Amino acid sequence: MNTYDATRMIDVMAAEGFEETGTMEDADLIILNTCHIRERASEKIFSELGKIRVLKDDQAARGRSVMVGVAGCVAQAEGKEIFRRQKTVDLVVGPQSYHHLAALVEQAKSTPGVTDTEFPLEDKFDHLAAPSEDKTRSRGISAFVTVQEGCDKFCTFCVVPYTRGAEVSRPAVKIINEIRGLVEAGVREVTFLGQNVNGYHGEGPNGEALTFAQLLEEVAKIPDLPRIRYMTSHPNDMDDDLLRVHADIPAVMPFLHLPVQSGSDRILAKMNRGHTAAFYLDLIENSRAARPDIALSSDFIVGFPGETEEDFQATLDLIQRVNFAMTYFFKYSPRPGTPASDMADQVSEEIKSERLARLQALVDEQRHAYNRSKIGQTLDVLFEKAGRYEGQIAGKTPYWQAVQVNGPKSLIGSSAKVMITDVRGNSLFGQLIQPIGVAE
Ligand code: SAH
Ligand code: SF4
Repeated sequence: MNTYDATRMIDVMAAEGFEETGTMEDADLIILNTCHIRERASEKIFSELGKIRVLKDDQAARGRSVMVGVAGCVAQAEGKEIFRRQKTVDLVVGPQSYHHLAALVEQAKSTPGVTDTEFPLEDKFDHLAAPSEDKTRSRGISAFVTVQEGCDKFCTFCVVPYTRGAEVSRPAVKIINEIRGLVEAGVREVTFLGQNVNGYHGEGPNGEALTFAQLLEEVAKIPDLPRIRYMTSHPNDMDDDLLRVHADIPAVMPFLHLPVQSGSDRILAKMNRGHTAAFYLDLIENSRAARPDIALSSDFIVGFPGETEEDFQATLDLIQRVNFAMTYFFKYSPRPGTPASDMADQVSEEIKSERLARLQALVDEQRHAYNRSKIGQTLDVLFEKAGRYEGQIAGKTPYWQAVQVNGPKSLIGSSAKVMITDVRGNSLFGQLIQPIGVAE
């Protein structure tokens, strides 16, 4: 979502005559788009700002003024505190105020120290420049589109409900128009984004209430958009209609990122996740019944307060039973203001690290086995860019695996059949079988 937000900030500033630069040294305006989800992510910002301060001072010595902004969820959470910790910052802007960015930059020119971390009543998407307005800026082949933002679920470890605010779904017409513009600019795959994307409940094209499954059906009607993905989904918002869409609509890719966080019912309850491990395993079974080849992925937190060895074993058991194509895993990080950070039975750093290593060994093995299971298969690959080496092009399988093949750059933007021959690291290698259609 931060990648998407950064693109939209560039759109806002492009309308003011700004251009994206390749390096910070060339920039008149530097904006750090920040993440608050774990402590390490937010601490990184201040070390980065320290480096930017040196650059800004150097530029000032040469008579050039550089403006520095902090955006994203750290901006939202810390607000004016950021100016106190790092005086080089000129403006602070929260995720719900990017449509005010140009005005804030203008204001900061005369009065540095400008902050906007409101949750405004107006819809920021109404005021952000449409990406389609600037046809000269390439969006690549695969692009993100936020369809839902914020969260009302209040898992006890998570800052999202505080930094991104309440759950809001964008109206379908706006999403569809944005995607049409992207497709016109050459995009062939969109990934719908939302903190609880499958909880989407927006306004349909005729003012009716639209579910997430219905939104996917609407977007699948857009011509020249062969691939649609989405993340992140919550288990409690999975429904049969969404699984049916996976079974029936070829553009909806066979990949489901469905975080479970823990395999222990006791920990799931303490996390306020609102479901059990058995409920999750049933969902996995239903997803596989709907789309037998679906690739599954999840997020796990290890060392949540009170997690015992037995609880952790339950997590490993769940992972064994599901067999994930890929997995994200994190050490529990106490976030100020969240209920879990005040729980008495915090797990030691040492145990967290030890459990993380065990979990990582298991999920790495599963990921590798999953990737290797594709060797010998012929898969559709959507090519997105030039490969690592001359003569190579790189793309993705329907299961979101990176693939490299020897092939012409003219295939970038189109799909072709590829026979998978090898796996090295997390990359698949293959041979082109037959181009399905060459990009214009
Ligand atoms: N809405 C999604 C997740 C959004 S946050 C969901 O409900 O699953 C992305 C991931 O960051 C989470 O799935 C969780 O695994 C991780 N995460 C969030 N807060 C965390 C914390 N305090 N410590 C460690 N990991 C955390
Ligand atoms: Fe955070 Fe996801 Fe829980 Fe919402 S559902 S509070 S975003 S982990």
